[in-house]
Amino acid sequence: MTPRIVKSLVPSQQLVALPAPPNALRLAMLFQLERSQWWSAQEMRKAQLQQLNLILKHAQKSVAYYRDAWAKLGLALPEIIDEDFLARLPITRRKDVQEAGDHFVTNNLPFEHGKIQFGTTSGSTGRPVRFGRTSVTHLSWLAFALREHLWHERDFSGKLCAIRWASPGVAMPPEGAAGQNWGEVVEPIFATGATSLLNVTAKLSEQLEWLQREKPDYLISFPSNLLALTNYVQESGLKLPQVRQLRVVGETLTAAMRKALVDAWGAVVVDMYTCEEAGYLAVQCPQADHFHVQAENVILEIVDDEGKACPAGVTGRVLITSLNNFATPLIRYEVGDYAEFGPACPCGRGLPVIKRIHGRQRNRLIMPGGESLYSLFPYLGEHGQIMRETGVKVSQFQCVQHSLKSVEIKLVLERELTSEEQGRVTLMMQRHLGYPFEIFYTFLPDIPRGPNGKFEEFISHVRI
Ligand SMILES: [Zn+2]
Repeated sequence: MTPRIVKSLVPSQQLVALPAPPNALRLAMLFQLERSQWWSAQEMRKAQLQQLNLILKHAQKSVAYYRDAWAKLGLALPEIIDEDFLARLPITRRKDVQEAGDHFVTNNLPFEHGKIQFGTTSGSTGRPVRFGRTSVTHLSWLAFALREHLWHERDFSGKLCAIRWASPGVAMPPEGAAGQNWGEVVEPIFATGATSLLNVTAKLSEQLEWLQREKPDYLISFPSNLLALTNYVQESGLKLPQVRQLRVVGETLTAAMRKALVDAWGAVVVDMYTCEEAGYLAVQCPQADHFHVQAENVILEIVDDEGKACPAGVTGRVLITSLNNFATPLIRYEVGDYAEFGPACPCGRGLPVIKRIHGRQRNRLIMPGGESLYSLFPYLGEHGQIMRETGVKVSQFQCVQHSLKSVEIKLVLERELTSEEQGRVTLMMQRHLGYPFEIFYTFLPDIPRGPNGKFEEFISHVRI
């Protein structure tokens, strides 16, 4: 592997570089992250609570939403913030942020944080949430993104390719769009190889041709797209390109999907957990399939429906407290995902372990009794259960829950199922779902991806 040599501002000083000031700041942050990842869990918690103290004081003084919410509950900030006090703070929901409007924004941003720029969440979770970004949150995002690259020991001289969402007409096949370097996260600090982007709306045959030509070392895409490519190759007898790592983004990757990708591509599969509002929440351990919370960036809690902390192995709702956003502080903010903690990692990092991320609330089936379930489907693609049951090839599958009683199965098939076959699939699905839902079928030529190119295999429109 080419040694990673930092770019130097002084041409005659290369081996120990003198990086340009903004990059030096980021490297200074990274130096600290390199050390803090090895702190014990207790040391990290103590440091987090000290930083939390600064955020809470700032929020109480300058963010009307928190001042009012805490006053209503009679909460006074103690001199020293401990675990118990954190647990007493109210949960902030997306709806609270939306309704608070400007009351959720600080009226006194410390000048060192720079100016506030606003972003909004996109994607499939309904009404967007507006959040503030500052120079500090941006630098943090860049530092954690670089940490993720370094953890996974990517060779920056390699070629990085992505098959992702792009506006219609942009990065279209056959060429896609070429880039000279790995972009803002890496390029200012390290010399990099080239990149190339292909619009995810490209046909699988076009994607494969493009991949054979581009020969990526690293490939970024949605898990659903990589699995579709895998199935396409198995069907057509063509070959997948040799890549060193697959980096999946945007959708939940189940253990079964991960295994299917590793088996077919023979590559390392790397997943991560981020959100638009707070950046890097958890990064896959370099030595395991689970995730380490980016504890220097966020306090991440997992709680049950009563708001009580879930022990390791128990699934609950994810709450995050951003430790560096002083523009629109996110304090015990409910992201809308379900996850579970795992035991400490043998790699030695003290950063908390997330064993599994189960995905969004809207991707959970709501049972008639009100409880919700996740991870319902093994991959039901071309070699999945419908194929086994009926012998009919399935190229796309989506399950949509419309009510507590009925579920729609959308299918893209080589031919429509007969009513007898539908009956068999219905029985299989009812067994799988654990309840005799009324199941109806829609046969389509194509199931389009949602906003930002994400494909959701299961969507529930039921709200409880
Ligand atoms: Zn680890």
